[in-house]
Amino acid sequence: MIIDLRSDTVTKPTAQMKEAMWEAEVGDDVLGDDPTVNALQEKAARLFGMEDALFCPSGTMTNQLAIRVHTKPGSDVICDKYSHIYLYEGGGIMLNSFSSVKLIDGDRGRITASQVADSISPENDIHSTRTCLVSLENTMNKGGGAYYDINEIKNIRQVCWDHKIPLHLDGARIFNALVETGEDPSQYGQLFDSISICLSKGLGCPVGSILLGSKQTISEARRFRKVMGGGWRQAGFLAAAGIYALDNHVGRLAEDHLRARVIGEIFRQKAEVEEIFQVDTNIVIIRLQEKISEKDYVKKLADMGILAVSFGKNLVRFVTHLNFTDDQMDLMQKKLLS
Ligand SMILES: *Cc1c(COP(=O)(O)O)cnc(C)c1O
Repeated sequence: MIIDLRSDTVTKPTAQMKEAMWEAEVGDDVLGDDPTVNALQEKAARLFGMEDALFCPSGTMTNQLAIRVHTKPGSDVICDKYSHIYLYEGGGIMLNSFSSVKLIDGDRGRITASQVADSISPENDIHSTRTCLVSLENTMNKGGGAYYDINEIKNIRQVCWDHKIPLHLDGARIFNALVETGEDPSQYGQLFDSISICLSKGLGCPVGSILLGSKQTISEARRFRKVMGGGWRQAGFLAAAGIYALDNHVGRLAEDHLRARVIGEIFRQKAEVEEIFQVDTNIVIIRLQEKISEKDYVKKLADMGILAVSFGKNLVRFVTHLNFTDDQMDLMQKKLLS
């Protein structure tokens, strides 16, 4: 049995999810008449209390569409230096939006209102880029699944209002944060101009991400999605998985968080592990002793049937998910501690 903890994207659809997909009513989404896509978009918009939504193939696309809509060429986007939009989207801010970044050195990827205020470009200064967007990530992948205190988001929102700058949320794993804090998604809808959520991470869908925003933001994003070749046709088969996941796979994320904490405890007993990042949600990052290469360690784990990814110098990441069971957890414990 291979224990695959490389990412929460490695899940396979459950039998019930497949059934929901198989039975979906579909139409041509480019023409706007796929009923299942429309139902998913309406459901997600309602959940977050936002006006409209756009179903897309990937979180990279929903983030990049938001950035494209909010910025003009020559802008800058304020974000943490570990942000997915900056590190892992192939330079898309530059390639798609002709814009730059102002990188903030946050706390495990979380930035503060005063850091944002200090990073905003001076108005009417022809030397600098124009700050056109602030982007937060919650939970924070590279920060080991850390999540924000909503009060700090409110403070950041205020700074953005004061400077008339829109605020975007990369919420690929927002449900992991919501399950921990017990907050309502609609609180987030009130704080952000756009939110990207992923269905293919912890929620266990084969494909999909949704961009949420105002009617105007979404209608602009729909244009750019088409330009990027992202207009899709009978996408209702995929949207049906999303509806199923929103109805059935959100609450269970708490189990993933419990199992992640157990993994943290297992590695605490390993001499070669120097540090375990605080485990807040479903991501565990361990730091190995200086002399141990993370690539060798990942290889060693793979030889034992445990898959993880190297995550920077001496760092290894594990992500728990829908297909990681208690039986696998027990087996992993045996393999690592015997
Ligand atoms: C996975 C992820 C995305 C989107 O990734 P895709 O693979 O393009 O769906 C965006 N932001 C974060 C924080 C992610 O972890």
